[in-house]
Amino acid sequence: MTAAAPRHAGAFLTIDLKAIVANWRLLSARLGGAACAAVVKADAYGLGAAAVSSALETAGCRAFFVALPEEGAKVRQAVSDWSRIFVLNGTPQGAEADFVARSLGPVVNTMGELAAWRAHAARSGRRLTVALQLDTGMSRLGLTPADTASIAADPVLLEGLAVELVLSHLACADEPDHPGNAAQLEAFRRMRAELPPAPASLANSSGIFLGAAYYFDLARPGAALYGINPTPWAANPMRSAVRLSARVVQLRDVSADTGVGYGHAASTPRPSRLATISLGYADGWPRNAMAAAFFRGARLPFLGRVSMDSIVLDATDGPAALREGDLVDLICLEQGVDDIARAAGTIDYEILTRLGRRLHRRHINPPGRLGLTG
Ligand SMILES: *Cc1c(COP(=O)(O)O)cnc(C)c1O
Repeated sequence: MTAAAPRHAGAFLTIDLKAIVANWRLLSARLGGAACAAVVKADAYGLGAAAVSSALETAGCRAFFVALPEEGAKVRQAVSDWSRIFVLNGTPQGAEADFVARSLGPVVNTMGELAAWRAHAARSGRRLTVALQLDTGMSRLGLTPADTASIAADPVLLEGLAVELVLSHLACADEPDHPGNAAQLEAFRRMRAELPPAPASLANSSGIFLGAAYYFDLARPGAALYGINPTPWAANPMRSAVRLSARVVQLRDVSADTGVGYGHAASTPRPSRLATISLGYADGWPRNAMAAAFFRGARLPFLGRVSMDSIVLDATDGPAALREGDLVDLICLEQGVDDIARAAGTIDYEILTRLGRRLHRRHINPPGRLGLTG
């Protein structure tokens, strides 16, 4: 079985690599002397980790973060040997040799993992690099203050290991006035001082907007690279990087009071023109997100329930030029990921990461080798 030709795809996700690179550059510039990494976990938030990582490396990014070793292996194939790839969710037991072989940077979260790396260094007779994640107040992942105190008291706990990075993650960075931010910053400084000197990393996307005290040596944005607003309290400084389009598979003219879709959850208030599009909840569109599609700037609202593979639009007031086979837009300038998240009662991150495998992804505007088009 061969894949259907893209021109026959039901829906497209177009990913603008130039916009992602521009977003990375904007954050880099803001960071001054600190470096800017890229968080490409969950397949770069659904946008394609290989293409995104490769584009960002061309632009100068040298550090990538993923959640899992398998994700790291995929990114490793897309970037050069000199770029670092850190695996945030730690090392599964016994995976140490695999990490070394694939040149993946382990992020050590527990004293048990630290012991496993010490043992692996002793076994292999090599000094191994590790990153240490500190729990400074999110209570999710990382070494505790008691752990860093015991390392300070007993340096043998780091025998055979070189600490390449010390990192922590902010729980409340998207709320600049939240007291948790200053508390985590303070805890990070305190815990870091108990460890051997090493580059430090604290800020995620929103953390980059909390001020220079949060920059340290390396920032780790994910969401903002993909166009999600890192400053929800203000206008979005990032460029949008995705467009979702779906094909109109059928147009029909119906009389007033015609039931539409499952359960006849809606019916036409007047004689109507309906357009059925090839996109549904199996493509990651949230079933409860009632929104609209856009055709040449005209808004075509959803009518009735979202199905697995289709959505019915009310095209009565839309352009007469709309034809079966045309593409309409669902993530576009008129309707952002934030609008869909609001309609679904969730956050932008979840909308992006759930966009389905069935969408035909196409990456446009890859940066030129010399950065001429970046
Ligand atoms: C996901 C994640 C990030 C990126 O966060 P954004 O809010 O998407 O910028 C950074 N650091 C860690 C530890 C993460 O888990």
